[in-house]
Amino acid sequence: MNKFFFKSAKINEFRLWGLIFTLVGMGVMILGTAGIVLWGQAGKIVAAIFMVIGMISLLVSVAVYFWAGMMSTSATMLTCPECNRPTKMLGKTDRCMFCKTILTLDPAQATHAPSE
Ligand SMILES: [Zn+2]
Repeated sequence: MNKFFFKSAKINEFRLWGLIFTLVGMGVMILGTAGIVLWGQAGKIVAAIFMVIGMISLLVSVAVYFWAGMMSTSATMLTCPECNRPTKMLGKTDRCMFCKTILTLDPAQATHAPSE
C-alpha cells in the first residue's frame, strides 16, 4: 500500500533522492576528469562517457527537485498532533517531517482520533 523507503516524510524522501543523484553525478564527473590525468589520451574517451553519465544524473536530480517542488505546492499543510509543529503531507497518508509519525487524512486508516 503506502511505501516509505527511508521511514521519512515523502517531501524529505524526494529531496534525499535529488541529493543522491547530484552527488553521484558530480562524483562520476570527477572520476571522469581523473581519468584524463591518469590515462592521458585513452582516458579522454572514458572521461567523455563518464561526463555524459554525470550530466544525465545531474539532469535527473534537477527533475527530482522540480517534481518535489511541484508536489509540495499541492501538499496539505497541517500541525502535527504529536510534536505540534507545522508539517506538509503528500497524499492521504504521509509521515510528519519532524517526528516521523504516520499521519493520515483517511478516517478508515486512523488509529487515533485527532482530538486525542
Ligand atoms: Zn510531528
